[in-house]
Formats: sequence, structure tokens, C-alpha cells
Amino acid sequence: MIVILQADIDKQGPEYAQLMAHLSNLPNTQSRVHEEVGTHQVLTEVYLVGDTSSLSMEDIQSLPGVERVVRVSQEYRVLGRHKDDLRSTHFDYNGVPFSQDTFHIFAGLCAVDTPEHVEEMMKALQDNGQVCTRMGAYKPRTSPYAFQGHGKTCLPYVFELAGKYGIKVIAMEVTHESHVNEIQETLEQTGHPTGVILQIGTRNTQNFELLKIVGRQQTHPVLLKRGFGITLEESLNAAEYLASEGNRKVIFCLRGMKTNLGDPHRNFVDFSQVPVVKRLTRMPVCVDPSHSVGSRDRGPDGVLELAHAAAQGVVAGANMVLVDFHPHPEKALVDGPQALLLTELPWFIEDMKIAREAYIARTDLANRQLATNVI
Ligand code: PEP
Ligand code: MN
Repeated sequence: MIVILQADIDKQGPEYAQLMAHLSNLPNTQSRVHEEVGTHQVLTEVYLVGDTSSLSMEDIQSLPGVERVVRVSQEYRVLGRHKDDLRSTHFDYNGVPFSQDTFHIFAGLCAVDTPEHVEEMMKALQDNGQVCTRMGAYKPRTSPYAFQGHGKTCLPYVFELAGKYGIKVIAMEVTHESHVNEIQETLEQTGHPTGVILQIGTRNTQNFELLKIVGRQQTHPVLLKRGFGITLEESLNAAEYLASEGNRKVIFCLRGMKTNLGDPHRNFVDFSQVPVVKRLTRMPVCVDPSHSVGSRDRGPDGVLELAHAAAQGVVAGANMVLVDFHPHPEKALVDGPQALLLTELPWFIEDMKIAREAYIARTDLANRQLATNVI
């Protein structure tokens, strides 16, 4: 059960003390306080867990200081959708809005290699009106002999170049607690020229200790990749780990599943599940066509298979596309064969715009149908 307190309730006042004393004395339940600091107000929620089925919602609703009470189903307590749950799905990060209604493209380098390539990428993004990108500094690789990423040494120039070209948000994978600290320290040293969303890769979806660490900080939102060999339910529970530790600014990313049934694609594209994730949870949903498709093959219709897959996700309501680009894919140190060229960037953006408009037209159509009450 979630008890939503009145906005800006005085935490030092007697009303709050009485309410908390009452809630913590309820039999067979434990309470946990979560504070959401928004631009306009601080929202305090108390999570009651344990034997809450016998509690009366009306009784708790009528306690002084309580705004609303939501009874949650067992699953995905924080991020899930529950009956009569009006909690917003929206968050802003560094001036960029994220919700199940927004749409952004995160085009960029799978792995940072040289400052020149980073600059070419950032400049192309700015030239095409983009404020988000992806940049890999810490790369989890199948082989220990493969390039592991430049790590913290590349962070200063990546952040400074992002600032120079007006990039507000970078999605960057972390695989260890030290990476979170290095990113934070470098942002401070360089004067916060940009913002970073911490990406948890598919190999770490169930790295529970990493999830807890990343979930405990609320400075950076998190982009969580679906685990490539586990059920959707298991991956959504991984997202819930982040939220239960305090960070509910979580974007969920579909990136294809590991099975040979997807051959010749690198992974089996799972973007039909975009609406499922939106139905079960309140998270914005991202699709990653690069790691799903894994090649630059073009269909006989002239369209890249990677763009077809991305469009399928966007037509189904995806809120974000994470996609690999590189100024010179033949020189890329990681995943060159799937990187799009900078000359393809405006075309890709236009293609995604078409898909997004198709999605909006489709939701209008469905809602007109629902309004007729004849289904
Ligand atoms: C990536 O986005 O660079 C990446 C390694 O993705 P995934 O974790 O989905 O394999
Ligand atoms: Mn990659």
C-alpha cells in the first residue's frame, strides 16, 4: 500500500510525527519513506509492506496529512501501474522531459575511441537538432582481449565536447560502482557541461548489487537494458530493484533476445513488447535496434533492416531509440558493422519522425474507436 502525503508536509511538525507513529504501529507491517524532489514540490510517499490486506484504505485515507492511498498489486510496487494510481510517469533531467508520452533519439558512439570522432559525432547531432546521445566509456566485452573502453580517461573530453555542442543528456553504461563515482567527479571537475543517464547493460540486468548502488543515487536517471536471456518479468523486477532503493527515474530498454531463432540478426527483435512494458509499468520505454539487428543490411525496398526494426518499436509507442552511429565505422573499435554513418543521421531522424507520427495517428484512431463504445 502506498500512502501519498500532502505536498510539502512539514516533516518537523506534530501532524507528520503523529501520522508516522500511527503507520509504524500498524500490526505486521513495515513502513519505508520515499521522497521525490520535483521542481515545484517535494512529494513524500510511505510504502507499507507486509500484511496490508486487512488495512482499510478509507481509515488511512482519513488520517491527517494523507493526500491519497493506493493499494498496489504485489508486482512492481513502485514502477508498476496500479488501480486508481494517478502517480505521474514524468521526470525531467537536465531540461529534457521523459515519460511514456515523450520521444527522443539517442544516436552516438557505441564506444568512445578518439576525441576527433567524438567531436564529429557531437557536431552532427547539433547540426540535426539533437540534444541527446550515447557514448560508451566502459565496455563489457565477451573477450578479455577485446578493447574494454577508455574508461575515465575519456570522460573530460566527452563531457566538454557535449557541452560545446549543446548535448544535454548522454546515455553511458556503467558496470561498477567506481564508474558512477568517476562520472560524477568528472562532471563536477568540468563544471557540469552536460548530463549523464547511467546505462545498465544486458549482461548486468540481474547484477543486484550494482542495481542497488545505482538505485541509491538519485542524481542520474537510469537506462536499464532487458536481460537477453531472462523473462520480461525478471527484467521488470530488476527495474524495480532500482526504484525500491529510491531511484524511480528509470527507462526500460528492449534490445533483442539471445537465440538463434533470430538469425541472421544478432538478437531476436522483441519490440512487440513495447506496449506490454507500458501497460505493466509507468516507465518510458526505449528500443535499441543496433544491438538487436547488428548489421547494416538493406532490404530490397531500400530500407536498412536496422531502421525497419527501430520503426517497428516507434510505431508501437517507444519513447526513445538508442542507436549506434560512427563517423568512420571501419575504424570503430566496437560494433562497427552495425554503426550508421553520419550522413545517414538526418535520414534516420526523418524516418523515426514518420514512425512517431504513425504511432500518434494510430492512438487517435484507437481512441475514436473506443469512444464509439462498439468494440
Ligand atoms: C551497448 O548499448 O553498447 C551494449 C553493450 O548493449 P547491450 O548491453 O544491450 O548488449
Ligand atoms: Mn555495442
